[in-house]
Amino acid sequence: MSNPWKNAHAQLDSVAKLLKLDDKTITALKTPKKVHESTLKVKMDNGKTKSFSAFRSQHNDAVGPHKGGIRYHPGVTEDEVKALSMWMTWKCSVVGIPYGGAKGGIIVDPKQLSNGELERLTRAYAKFITPFIGSRIDVPAPDVNTDGQTMTWILDVYEKITGRQEPGVITGKPIALGGSQGRTEATGLGGFYILEHLIKKLGLKRDKTTIAVQGVGNVGYWFSKFACEAGYKLIAISDSKGGAVRKSGFIIDEAIEAKEKEGSVNCLTNGMKISHEELINLDVDILVPAALENVITADVAKKMKAKIILEMANGPVTPEADHILHKRGIISIPDVLANAGGVTVSYFEWVQNNMGYYWEKEEVFAKLQKIMYQAFELVWSVYQNKKVNPRMAAYMVAVERVVTAMKLRGQI
Ligand code: NAD
Repeated sequence: MSNPWKNAHAQLDSVAKLLKLDDKTITALKTPKKVHESTLKVKMDNGKTKSFSAFRSQHNDAVGPHKGGIRYHPGVTEDEVKALSMWMTWKCSVVGIPYGGAKGGIIVDPKQLSNGELERLTRAYAKFITPFIGSRIDVPAPDVNTDGQTMTWILDVYEKITGRQEPGVITGKPIALGGSQGRTEATGLGGFYILEHLIKKLGLKRDKTTIAVQGVGNVGYWFSKFACEAGYKLIAISDSKGGAVRKSGFIIDEAIEAKEKEGSVNCLTNGMKISHEELINLDVDILVPAALENVITADVAKKMKAKIILEMANGPVTPEADHILHKRGIISIPDVLANAGGVTVSYFEWVQNNMGYYWEKEEVFAKLQKIMYQAFELVWSVYQNKKVNPRMAAYMVAVERVVTAMKLRGQI
């Protein structure tokens, strides 16, 4: 597996060349502002103490406070956390929300811990990060294997230590603690808004546009639901156990109901079983990877038949595959744009917390749509005018905004 930090640097080098950035600027962009590291000691249920390595990388805060999730996974490394923090800087920048980038992680398999152990681990992590987070400093959020409960434990520790109420210190909170309406749907819905704009640009019709979605979890489900309701043809779906295809299209809620009964969409009686590989290689207009990283490798890119990829998962296309897709004329809408609906509604959560005034879901959705459309328009115009692939276009928009802010501050 390639090193994500090296990949992040390689991507930056490519965009730096297009933007003609000087070496001083490139070095400043490549260097995280601060990488915090700790060994957390946690009392386990058997009475023994266990150590866990934990990180928080704060990449850049020229545009606004650092922003980024916290993941619990055995595969977490310092390099991965640093790369993800840089990608967060670009993601926030591409949609024009006033944040920089950050990411946190603990090397742990949370499925091996009891609820009590998970709470003690999270509270220890919260104690570690409290001195360097804050609603105007660094605002964490959920990521892989963390959720609203995790965020609540962190908020609780932070507020106890600092002695003040500050809900905007963290996002992804339950509604009862200042979470935003619409956060659950946000990432899938943001991707749907991008899809709507994209088909207009390409002159496609909804009912003639076929879609395959890899992974109908939170993101894949909500994306599929909005797409089905708008009249697109969702002809293939999958989950970790496999997929199903139906030429006439699925109704997503029926598919999910069947999955709940049978355990997998692979068992749908109104569709034909397909493997993971078959789904990726289907002849569809739009392939939507919404589950895992690195699923579109160079080998896949050489033979896949989809005309467009909408990257709802983080990092589904490898850098080698990216070049091949571009050569083959397959448009891949990059993750930093396609799945930025999630962080955008996190930003709305923070705005509402800071105001102490809360919006209804319709208002959240309308504001999300506006931001996604504006970001898409900007990226699309760079894509058309500069003749680069959409990923490079998105990175050009994102990096340029950060460089402008750094220059204004006299940092470069
Ligand atoms: P999730 O855990 O809710 O869903 C993941 C789904 O993928 C599950 O249905 C699982 O069965 C399926 N899956 C696992 N392995 C698979 C395989 N080999 N083939 C097909 N399906 C498989 O996770 P999520 O929150 O929906 O996140 C999905 C992706 O979107 C991740 O890459 C995540 O980083 C990214 N993302 C999520 C958000 C968010 O707001 N949740 C925001 C930005 C990016």
